[in-house]
Amino acid sequence: MSNTSEKIAVLGAGTMGAGIAQVAAHAGFETILYDIKQEFVDTGLGRIRSFLGGSRERGKISAEQEQQILERLRSTTDLADCAGSALVIEAAPEKLELKRDIFKQLDSICAPETLLATNTSSFNVTAIAASTQHPERVLGLHFFNPPPLMALVEVVQGDRTSAATMESATDWMRRIGKTPARVKDTPGFIVNRIARPFYNEALRILGDGDAAVETIDRIMKEAGNFRMGPFELMDLIGNDINFAATDSLYQSFFHDPRFRPSPIQQRMVMGGNLGRKTGRGFYVYDKK
Ligand code: NAD
Repeated sequence: MSNTSEKIAVLGAGTMGAGIAQVAAHAGFETILYDIKQEFVDTGLGRIRSFLGGSRERGKISAEQEQQILERLRSTTDLADCAGSALVIEAAPEKLELKRDIFKQLDSICAPETLLATNTSSFNVTAIAASTQHPERVLGLHFFNPPPLMALVEVVQGDRTSAATMESATDWMRRIGKTPARVKDTPGFIVNRIARPFYNEALRILGDGDAAVETIDRIMKEAGNFRMGPFELMDLIGNDINFAATDSLYQSFFHDPRFRPSPIQQRMVMGGNLGRKTGRGFYVYDKK
């Protein structure tokens, strides 16, 4: 098996995976980006190129830096190529069985010292780790959207995650320029649990016909001083991902009505109106 000392693998080249891979490569690490199909990998790489191009145009990075970051990024559709990494960060869709299946495979592919992290927003890290033979090296690394701009990463300790894994992962996060915060393996951890009422109440106001999407967003920005309104944020996150996170918290808290998902958001998901990534959500976007 190759040297695992400095390589990072990111699984899933979507909204989060592409951003996390960009962060890792920017911080100077050889990074491999995996997705199940080449077209998905290409879309993720395209988004990274476009982000870096924008950073260069605004003078935040030089053309040489941009080139070096891109050179540190490799891509693959073969999970086995992630074998030689020190840290694997999974950012596949928010589906528990899918994640458990990925971790089961990783457990047999990767060297015993490789850290296996999930970027899940809402699932129990312990439940994902239970699909492996080595749950002590499995943890949660919950990045925020968009990863290149958001400093915080919740570092989640599952029931069987070892202290050494937590130490090492916390150190990794600092090395890639993030601000790690250790949290317990509770539903939604801290940030997503607190954020649920923000989205849910906005959806209820909309459903009750008390205010329009644009009005709610504008008021929260102008009066509440939020950088984005709840609907803008749901479109950025992806309505499918946001709905799955709410549903997962609702299940985890045994149908506590505080977390009940909104039929409006469910309809958006069923209609394919996922937000920015599909060009249409609560708002319509120019796909370019
Ligand atoms: P996304 O839908 O944008 O991307 C998911 C990617 O995973 C897609 O490119 C898809 O092709 C790929 N994929 C599908 N099956 C896969 C497999 N078996 N192995 C690897 N990749 C696979 O989703 P996202 O928004 O990037 O979310 C990914 C994860 O990050 C989820 O667990 C989500 O809860 C979490 N998360 C999302 C946000 C957010 O704001 N979107 C924030 C924090 C955490």
